[in-house]
Amino acid sequence: MASRMTRRGLLQVTLAGAVASVAGVARSEQACLDGKMNEGLATALNFTEQSPKADQKCGGCGLYDGGDAACGHCQIFSCNVPASGHCDSWSPKG
Ligand code: SF4
Repeated sequence: MASRMTRRGLLQVTLAGAVASVAGVARSEQACLDGKMNEGLATALNFTEQSPKADQKCGGCGLYDGGDAACGHCQIFSCNVPASGHCDSWSPKG
């Protein structure tokens, strides 16, 4: 007997995958930060793990020593930050 997935079933599977994907990204960002960030400095510089600016992410910041990696060292915070992050000290690579 052939199994047929209903539209509702397909939507549930798709949503479950999307939720798992977002959770996985959040976990990888947490693993990258590893609790070593100076929280006071992070607050003062409005650090966020997900940049609100598509063209200004840690991965593209001149102070990011991570190359193309998803996690790299930040010269300002002296710890690893996710390439997806952003803070007010963002500056273009030059
Ligand atoms: S200075 Fe800010 S934007 Fe640049 S890598 Fe560090 S945390 Fe990211």
